[in-house]
Amino acid sequence: MDNYLKALKQNVCSICVDSNAKGGCTLNEKETCAVELFLPEIVNVIHSSHSEDFRELYLELQETVCVKCRTQEDGNCYLREDANCSLDRYFSLIVETIQKVDAGLIN
Ligand code: SF4
Ligand code: SF4
Repeated sequence: MDNYLKALKQNVCSICVDSNAKGGCTLNEKETCAVELFLPEIVNVIHSSHSEDFRELYLELQETVCVKCRTQEDGNCYLREDANCSLDRYFSLIVETIQKVDAGLIN
């Protein structure tokens, strides 16, 4: 998982609105990043999905990850609705980054 985390920090944290100029996360200790918290599940969804379609992957991710997340209630998530979840916000970039690590394009 370390190689995925490293690649995500370089590719996603660096452009995340919750990071500083050096790409360091600015969330406080009471806040949790769903990308870090659910990284094994995210990687597993991408690896086990039979679809290349990002919209299907997005739905599979919601069914796997968001159902476990304490922020979601009855299928609704206020962070997602406010574009305030990094996993939701950068979903495509996260998938691409993990696929590039798998392909050996980044390490
Ligand atoms: S919120 Fe998540 S994606 Fe954004 S900088 Fe922090 S750890 Fe990275
Ligand atoms: S979109 Fe909402 S429910 Fe899904 S991981 Fe993000 S915060 Fe959790």
